[in-house]
Amino acid sequence: MKQICLLAALLLAASAAPALAHEDETNTAAVHSTPGENLWNTGKPPADWKAEVRREHGHLGPWNVLGYRIAQTAMREFKTTWGSHDLDIIYYEPMETPYSCLADGLSVGTGNSIGRLDLRLAEVFTSEQVCVAVRRKDGKGGIIEFHPKIEYLKIILTQPAEKIEDLSRQCEEMPQESLFWMKRLENNNLEKH
Ligand SMILES: [Zn+2]
Repeated sequence: MKQICLLAALLLAASAAPALAHEDETNTAAVHSTPGENLWNTGKPPADWKAEVRREHGHLGPWNVLGYRIAQTAMREFKTTWGSHDLDIIYYEPMETPYSCLADGLSVGTGNSIGRLDLRLAEVFTSEQVCVAVRRKDGKGGIIEFHPKIEYLKIILTQPAEKIEDLSRQCEEMPQESLFWMKRLENNNLEKH
């Protein structure tokens, strides 16, 4: 009897699956990733972003500030605001500190989060591959890759802890061109054959 019930349940599930999958797709889009100003996005930008990095991350270092500055530029380039979750951000980095510190600067700087899946980490092998790729979820405006200058990464990779405050201030004040460069790409994949 048990087996028959199981079989019936499986058959029922299989026949209902296409409709459910379709419904799920619609719901997921509506519930979990709706960008813009709505009830899913009621977060407010921190009044003091440096204090927020310290609270969330434990310290404020140049890697955090670099992430924050990339975040500010990305929001400006894609014409969006903090916490509206309009952007998809992927940070390519060797999976170790201090590289990973940059992610919290991106998070505090945009309101995007790992839990919302609109800030994602991807592993690479070396500093030269470090980059932040950003696009709007609605596809408008293409993709921008933010590539930190390798000369700058060398400086902040090798500094002792007591210099962290000085380096953070420096990173805040340095011209953008000395910190990173941008590469723009179209937002369309190659056609499949
Ligand atoms: Zn850190």
